[in-house]
Amino acid sequence: MTLYVYKFGGTSVGSVERIKAVAEKVKKAHDAGDQIVVVVSAMSGETNRLLALAKDMQPQPTDRELDVLLSTGEQVTIALLAMALHHVGVDARSYTGSQVRILTDNAHTKARIREIDERHLRADLAAGRVVVVAGFQGVDEDGNITTLGRGGSDTTGVALAAALKADECHIYTDVDGVYTTDPRVVAKARRLERITFEEMLEMASLGSKVLQIRSVEFAGKYNVKLRVLSSFIEGNGTLISYEESDMEKALISGIAFNRDEAKLTLTGVPDLPGVASRILGPIADENIEVDMIVQNISAHGNTDFTFTVNRNDFARAKAVLARLKADFGGTTEIIGDSSIVKVSIVGVGMRSHAGIASTMFKVLADEGINIQMISTSEIKISVVIDEKYLELAVRALHSAFGLDQE
Ligand code: ASP
Ligand code: MG
Repeated sequence: MTLYVYKFGGTSVGSVERIKAVAEKVKKAHDAGDQIVVVVSAMSGETNRLLALAKDMQPQPTDRELDVLLSTGEQVTIALLAMALHHVGVDARSYTGSQVRILTDNAHTKARIREIDERHLRADLAAGRVVVVAGFQGVDEDGNITTLGRGGSDTTGVALAAALKADECHIYTDVDGVYTTDPRVVAKARRLERITFEEMLEMASLGSKVLQIRSVEFAGKYNVKLRVLSSFIEGNGTLISYEESDMEKALISGIAFNRDEAKLTLTGVPDLPGVASRILGPIADENIEVDMIVQNISAHGNTDFTFTVNRNDFARAKAVLARLKADFGGTTEIIGDSSIVKVSIVGVGMRSHAGIASTMFKVLADEGINIQMISTSEIKISVVIDEKYLELAVRALHSAFGLDQE
């Protein structure tokens, strides 16, 4: 018998009709003899609606009460889906996170799962029932309702699949899989049959927002096979798993990009021990996340220090640097640029192949695109370029690395 966890996102349960369609899909698998645990999100827009209500009560509601409120969105969908399943003759039971006992820490609004008691679920499955679980929520040791952070239902799905040792965790969403790049930028983008956890993490953190990143980390840690599929179109979707020897050996699996970056440079800082920490310490103290960092070799005892931050943090980061400038003495200047983008090529294939970076740089050079920063990891090469070249760069790389659909 095969055990699947199916997770349906907000758009997939966004209306009465869609919840009924989900019930039909679940019925089909159940009738075929599979064991099914369903995890659902709140109906689309519901979590935002609840958040807005909270803000109407109090500008800064406490996190504990926010969790009590936000968790109701998913509670509505589990009950409705269980009813829809009963209506088509499928025995089903709904559970909130606390009823299952998805035990989390007490970090309200961003709680982490510690342990899942799967006894109730196993008993229901053994009795031939479909189990419907509310995503995004859990309970702490003292019985307080907690939530797992926006998009957290993906993590619930993966965590249940890990706890139940499910054969696969299906994430049903409004796209039919993971693509080689954003199809809105490259019309010839292709759906990937498979991708590794590592590649998916790189793609996801770079802006291909198909899955909550934490759920991918979780799936990698517990080796849960994840499949991203459309709720609306039939198909195999994309399987996210560990690399297997029979995997199609592409050099590059995808091109990711991030438009939300901004670049800051401090020129003429002294080339002395502790300078990087004197710059980035105060940035971290402001809770600003730094992405790429480049420091030049020094000339005449001075060097340049460049890093990128999220565009939303650009002004704050610049203000921090302005405060530091005085400490560094007369030669230091601040240069900021918020009209940049980061473009990355991602692929486990680059581990065993030389020359990928030089191919990437040649492609960009041939298009007359200037590279402002470069950073690499084992399976990724990223460049910062002027935002006006984003589309051109992504298209040229996509076709140069053989990713275009025929
Ligand atoms: N309903 C929650 C949200 O909108 C959780 C989820 O959809 O995964 O973020
Ligand atoms: Mg979601």
